[in-house]
Amino acid sequence: MPLSTMKRVLLKLSGEVLMGDQQFGIDPAFVMELAKEVKTAKETGLEICLVIGGGNIFRGMAGAAQGMDRAQADYMGMLATVMNALAMQSALEQLGVQTRVQSAVQMDQVCEPVIRRRAERHLEKGRIVIFAAGVGAPYFTTDSGAALRAAEMNCDALLKGTSVDGVYDSDPKKNAGATRFETVSYGKVLADDLKVMDASAVALCRDNNIPIVVFSIREKGNLARVLSGEGVQTIVKN
Ligand code: UDP
Repeated sequence: MPLSTMKRVLLKLSGEVLMGDQQFGIDPAFVMELAKEVKTAKETGLEICLVIGGGNIFRGMAGAAQGMDRAQADYMGMLATVMNALAMQSALEQLGVQTRVQSAVQMDQVCEPVIRRRAERHLEKGRIVIFAAGVGAPYFTTDSGAALRAAEMNCDALLKGTSVDGVYDSDPKKNAGATRFETVSYGKVLADDLKVMDASAVALCRDNNIPIVVFSIREKGNLARVLSGEGVQTIVKN
């Protein structure tokens, strides 16, 4: 399906893009810029599910590397994703975009639990649903959470907005000669261990035939360009 004819997408943003130019945490001005991008995409009539990572605040692997219990550290990472979801909700609602946050770790005072049918209703009513806390289990990442929600919400594609403008054959930050793929198969991504998303997320997308569109969210207007079919991106598909 061409990007321009998609009806419903899942947009996954890495936590690190919420930092802006900071080294850690949330830059509210930058979150607002991201929210404007999301609003523009929404205004084309698209239904949008959002998943935001937590790497700008805490990653379980980093905690484990410093001696913490891995599962405990992962739960901290999940809580970080809820903070990011609330920051994005606040920015979107300041722009007049209706949203609901649904967390895979139940937090009744703060947001809704993940209820698929309720999420469907929110989308029908034109709200953006922000899915927080990944899959709600340790040893996973928000990439897997994004793939899972994209599958259960019947999204036409998983858009991964990150700091690079696609998938390269080698690390473009280390190798000036690295080339970007226009399209690449799930199989090649998995076999060559290309840095797109973690393997479980890629496999879930492959098994459910959900294209993964990797693009840079740091460039202004890029989300809308990608959705209109004119942007720079890599599409992972069969
Ligand atoms: N996490 C987890 N289970 C999930 C989703 C996230 O344990 O289903 C934890 C994990 O520790 C991860 C952290 O939350 O490192 C933050 O998520 P992620 O690393 O995916 O964020 P991103 O890299 O996208 O910013």
